[in-house]
Amino acid sequence: MNALAATNRNFKHAAKILGLDSKLERSLLIPFREIKVECTIPKDDGTLASYVGFRVQHDNARGPMKGGIRYHPEVDPDEVNALAQLMTWKTAVANIPYGGAKGGIGCIPGELSSSELERLTRVFTQKIHDLIGVHTDVPAPDMGTNSQTMAWILDEYSKFHGYSPAIVTGKPIDLGGSLGRDAATGRGVLFAAEALLSEYGKSISGQRFVIQGFGNVGSWAARLISEAGGKVVAVSDVTGAIKNTEGLDIPKLLEHSAKNRSIRGFEGANALDPNSLLIEDCDVLIPAALGGVINKENANDIRAKFIVEAANHPTDPEADEILSKRGVHILPDIYANAGGVTVSYFEWVQNIQGFMWDEKKVNNELKNYMTRAFKDLKSMCKNHNCDLRMGAFTLGVNRVARATLLRGWEA
Ligand code: GLU
Repeated sequence: MNALAATNRNFKHAAKILGLDSKLERSLLIPFREIKVECTIPKDDGTLASYVGFRVQHDNARGPMKGGIRYHPEVDPDEVNALAQLMTWKTAVANIPYGGAKGGIGCIPGELSSSELERLTRVFTQKIHDLIGVHTDVPAPDMGTNSQTMAWILDEYSKFHGYSPAIVTGKPIDLGGSLGRDAATGRGVLFAAEALLSEYGKSISGQRFVIQGFGNVGSWAARLISEAGGKVVAVSDVTGAIKNTEGLDIPKLLEHSAKNRSIRGFEGANALDPNSLLIEDCDVLIPAALGGVINKENANDIRAKFIVEAANHPTDPEADEILSKRGVHILPDIYANAGGVTVSYFEWVQNIQGFMWDEKKVNNELKNYMTRAFKDLKSMCKNHNCDLRMGAFTLGVNRVARATLLRGWEA
């Protein structure tokens, strides 16, 4: 199922549980603004290359729209729309004063040189600079982008509007980035997993984890889980998958992967078919890569008892149904990976205040937000007798609906 159809389906289900008025439901579903721009740049060899850039601003009832910019070949309008909508519910679940947005450029970032990436980022920023803003729409990194990308956006935006560090989050520390932002999504995944496991009298230590994806989110999650005593038994990245049923030595794997830009060939593990990673025997499965990877084709074979969605929309609604019938507990993306945008909020607050927090404060506040959001989510599950995904969706949608009604529609 396409990402937008899946996200809309979950939203409509939540709207039904909440008994939302159909006109309000329609207004919440339609994006505030969809931007599509041509980005043409000279390549290093002198030829021209054209790309299509998107920014979908989904909703601003609760505050400035917020969300990452992704550079990936599969970026398309429907996917960006779905991801923007998910950001609206995610910021509401985390209870940070933001709406939702998402952007992307259809490209293969690994095939572009650093100067080509810089030119592409600057051209994209020139095309959207008057539609984003510190109190309007604040971009951040996502797949294929990083703190350097944010530094280029900051610089290009500042040429038009004056120096504005709060225009992006996830930027380098030297330009006003927050301590702890790099690890934040992975750390949030750890806190989310802890909260879920503790409901069943379990803790991270002693559980076996499988992690799909070893980029920023997957690798931080692996590191923090192993530090907390969890056994990471298999991981994958874009180049392949590896396993060790005794538990991978994560600090050594991080070194290996930084050196070789791949987890392949790691001595303390056996190679594994990446297609069978998701169905490996484990207690907790953490998809931390692409969307739609858990679907009706593999849902029946998944052996984990818990799934913590570090990626955005990794589980198709059809797989959701199969897994929930099988008693698998799924902690949904709009809660489980909210650590990144939560620390983005802390970064933005620090920029606006002109004051820098120490890392301990950032991590403690993140824990507070994640713990509180889990309690709020669980109480929605109880009130509406629904699963964790609908608990998160009803929580987010209800907060946005309330803000929308309070602000009203009078022209
Ligand atoms: N790209 C991240 C997400 O999907 C972070 C967004 C942000 O920090 O604004 O949640």
